[in-house]
Amino acid sequence: MSDVAKQMIICPHCHRTAYFNIWNSINTKTDPETYGQVRRLSLFRFCCPYCRQTSTINYSFLYHQMESALMIYYIPEDEEADTTQNLLDAVSAGTPKDEKPDSDSGMKEEERALENALAHYKYRIVRTHEEFLEKLAIFDADLDDRIVELAKVIVGAEAERQLSETGFRVKSAFFSFSKEKNEKKLVFRDKNSSQTATVSFDRYVTNVYNRLVDRYRAALEGPHKKDTVINRNWAADILKTETAL
Ligand SMILES: [Zn+2]
Repeated sequence: MSDVAKQMIICPHCHRTAYFNIWNSINTKTDPETYGQVRRLSLFRFCCPYCRQTSTINYSFLYHQMESALMIYYIPEDEEADTTQNLLDAVSAGTPKDEKPDSDSGMKEEERALENALAHYKYRIVRTHEEFLEKLAIFDADLDDRIVELAKVIVGAEAERQLSETGFRVKSAFFSFSKEKNEKKLVFRDKNSSQTATVSFDRYVTNVYNRLVDRYRAALEGPHKKDTVINRNWAADILKTETAL
């Protein structure tokens, strides 16, 4: 189930107050219209009834896509760090054992089933809408976001080598996916200019991806199985620590 409530917010343009739907949690199964709305970010767009200006309202929420066993916590960068900790605690608590005293064995079986299901869930924490949309794109493309992060580092280094004459240095990278065109690509942003370098998910990138799957399977199914913040720093850490073995 989703958890949505009308809240008074202040229009950033005219500073008058109006009601807006704040989604504390979004469940794409019980509210299928939200599937497209989050991908367009229209769910977070507020159109002021007074001045008619549109603004994106940035607040934390939990995104739940049951059929993919996926939960993404969106926590904007400017929010307190302990919000993250609270959410993580809630995740690791996971099962509803406190709510249901063992009344009968039937309930226990249900709990076990739920526990089992939760063990297969992917939990992620993201801090920006861009990061959130990228995660969705990666999962929509049926890829493993951890491998994609690792691939970004490898392919990015190769892009820097090939573009060394221009002084291109990777500042950040993101994955983009078009379902209609079945087009996957990695886009790299330059540190010192507004230039980008785009690498399509061709045979070279697919090879890198598959090699990384083989190379890091043990680490990702073992000690790093429960990692929730999967980004560039995470990938750099993995590449550094795991190759040292
Ligand atoms: Zn307004």
